Amino acid sequence: MTIGVWILGDQLWIEQAALQSCQDKVPVIMIESLHHVQERPYHRQKLVLVWSAMRHFAEELRELGYPVTYKLAEDFETPLQEWIQENQITELRVMTPNDKPFTQMIQNFASLHCKITLVPNNHFLWSVEEFKTWAKRRKRLIMEDFYREGRRRFQILMEEDKPVGGEWNFDKQNRQPPKGKLNTPSAKWFEPDEITQDVIAHVKSLSFPLYGEVEPFRWGVTRSQALEILDWFIKNRLPEFGPYQDAMVTGEETMWHSMISPYLNIGLLQPLEVIQAAEKAYQQNQLSLYSIEGFIRQVMGWREYMHGIYHFVSADYPEKNYFEHTQPLPEFFWTGETKMNCLHQIITQLLRTGYAHHIQRLMVLSNFALIAGLSPQAVENWFHAMFIDAYDWVMQTNVIGMGLFADGGMLASKPYAASGNYVNKMSDYCKGCAYNPKERVGNNACPFNFFYWDFLDRHRSQLQFQGRMSFILGHLERMSLQELETIRQQARDWHVQQLSGEEV
Ligand code: FAD
Ligand code: SF4
Repeated sequence: MTIGVWILGDQLWIEQAALQSCQDKVPVIMIESLHHVQERPYHRQKLVLVWSAMRHFAEELRELGYPVTYKLAEDFETPLQEWIQENQITELRVMTPNDKPFTQMIQNFASLHCKITLVPNNHFLWSVEEFKTWAKRRKRLIMEDFYREGRRRFQILMEEDKPVGGEWNFDKQNRQPPKGKLNTPSAKWFEPDEITQDVIAHVKSLSFPLYGEVEPFRWGVTRSQALEILDWFIKNRLPEFGPYQDAMVTGEETMWHSMISPYLNIGLLQPLEVIQAAEKAYQQNQLSLYSIEGFIRQVMGWREYMHGIYHFVSADYPEKNYFEHTQPLPEFFWTGETKMNCLHQIITQLLRTGYAHHIQRLMVLSNFALIAGLSPQAVENWFHAMFIDAYDWVMQTNVIGMGLFADGGMLASKPYAASGNYVNKMSDYCKGCAYNPKERVGNNACPFNFFYWDFLDRHRSQLQFQGRMSFILGHLERMSLQELETIRQQARDWHVQQLSGEEV
């Protein structure tokens, strides 16, 4: 029997389960498929990141003595077929992909004529089965409960069975608006090496639709660079991660965020090592517990929870549309050309880098899409195309679930909907904007304002069952019918204007 291992572009870890399941240095194949990257649009820098990281990983495996075949091909099945024949492979092992459509594609391969074994994925702290066991026992799937279970299970920030500092969650201490000069530690970037430059040239030569700028490309592409980023984050940003986690400042694109999601999501970093590095820094340097707990909750809580939920929900989850929103995506989502400064800043940043931090994603991009009634599926497709760290497993739960509440509240306890007031409080974007965040209606009114009230008005019957919305719905009840009608009309007019190509 000859075993061969196929390594996918988001499985770039030497201890990944399929490689680990083999005793010897078995033949390995890695494939860049052009057909695959045309199934939906991608950011150019994401292609460079994944393909360059794959090519670097192939080199590392060769240095370790693995016979590696690296193919640039149209599809996956043809090169696999040829390689299986040439190497007389009788069993193809693949670590189970994180994304369900990819697993289905492998299961549907008809022409490989060998046994296909999917080895359970080991890139998360909780396996899919472990999460399901946890979830089945619950009436409601609350992230905080899951996170606490994780802290206990992996003994992170624990003193025996109690949380360090006496509390599980210090979120309340962590939401400061930006004030004055913040002195954010500058981001760590890398210069592209020869392999990356080759990939950049390759991506430039592609003629199918892609988004974003390919250069300057400054992301890391190897495990050692990813470890450098982790180390840089722990030393320079983690101590102050908490206070300004939700703040947004023009020109400060990454604030105190770690920028590690691109690496975690392709296997160059592993969640437990990230969490343990943060905990160790806390213990050795007596850092603020607010910051450390806040960061650990992101990786150990939110990331694992989103992954678990993705595999737990029904197959129709991606089609969910609780509010029946059908407005098309405005053209400016692809160009950044809008008078709304918050959206302009974040979308142009995305086009340049493929990155935006969590609050930019949640409280500006998806908040706008939610209150303006954009189709959740169009919005998810856009997020997938624009982000360097986008994958099916993380996109569906974050966009359909958390951002747009299109699942009707399976994972968020209320819709993340906010008016211009929030953006004005948590950012400096409104200072440079053509609109006024304090006006609800009229030519200068911030579109976040009339859309916010229009959203509450359109969906009041669904929202009245969300306990956390009752205060704001009470406010809506007290609004005069005349003002409400003006708001409704302005929201309708906005869609007509943007469809007719007027700058909004
Ligand atoms: P930090 O703020 O430094 O956080 C540390 C790590 O925590 C992140 O690297 C990430 O691995 C993890 N994390 C935190 N929150 C989440 C979450 N909600 N889901 C999953 N992981 C989380 N994350 C992606 O990895 N890919 C995506 O395509 C993606 N799309 C998103 C879309 C929307 C609408 C929203 C609201 C969130 C999305 N997120 C996504 C989650 C989160 O915003 C990013 O992981 C984070 O901004 C990445 O930047 P960072 O590494 O600097 O994160
Ligand atoms: Fe965004 Fe409104 Fe502020 Fe302009 S005024 S930056 S549109 S929130």
